[in-house]
Amino acid sequence: MSQQDSGKQPEPDELRPSADELIEHNRHVADTVKTPGMAAAPRRHVAVVTCMDARIEPLAELGLDIGEAHVIRNAGGVVTDDVIRSLSISQQKMGTREIVVVHHTSCGMCGLDETELRDQLERRFGERPEWPIGAFADDQTGLRDAIAALEASSFIERDTIIFGFLYDIETGFLTDVALGEAVTAATSAGSSDVT
Ligand SMILES: [Zn+2]
Repeated sequence: MSQQDSGKQPEPDELRPSADELIEHNRHVADTVKTPGMAAAPRRHVAVVTCMDARIEPLAELGLDIGEAHVIRNAGGVVTDDVIRSLSISQQKMGTREIVVVHHTSCGMCGLDETELRDQLERRFGERPEWPIGAFADDQTGLRDAIAALEASSFIERDTIIFGFLYDIETGFLTDVALGEAVTAATSAGSSDVT
């Protein structure tokens, strides 16, 4: 909906789904579920790490179907300790060996002022968060940092193939901007000069 359609922006309370609405919707789609009897391990042996952004449908943008991939999401698609935790379970217990990191244009974590957010949280809750915020200066830096964090982790299998893509929110296209040193190093023989 646009402002031109309605003449005014809906109040936030009008937009929030109620529990009844969510359950009612579920009753209409439950018959179409594809998962009865489906194995929990991803069929394509792939885990996707991406942003929580509401405009992204991770499986759809990659042409993957339900049951084919794990999807691990947080603000920014940042490789935090908790992402490593999930990937460890994905790899050790569910057999995934490929990781696709997808960041996107116009991400809220790009250029976010960490000090301002910490100040806001402290004012509101009386406590300053100790956890890292994970903001990044630009799209490519965020993606490269995420891939570097995966490669530096002691808990990611060494034979993991890692892809880094940037998703354009406006066009829907993916580009492999992070396929430089990271994946080249991971897939080439004799990569002793990797730092
Ligand atoms: Zn984002």
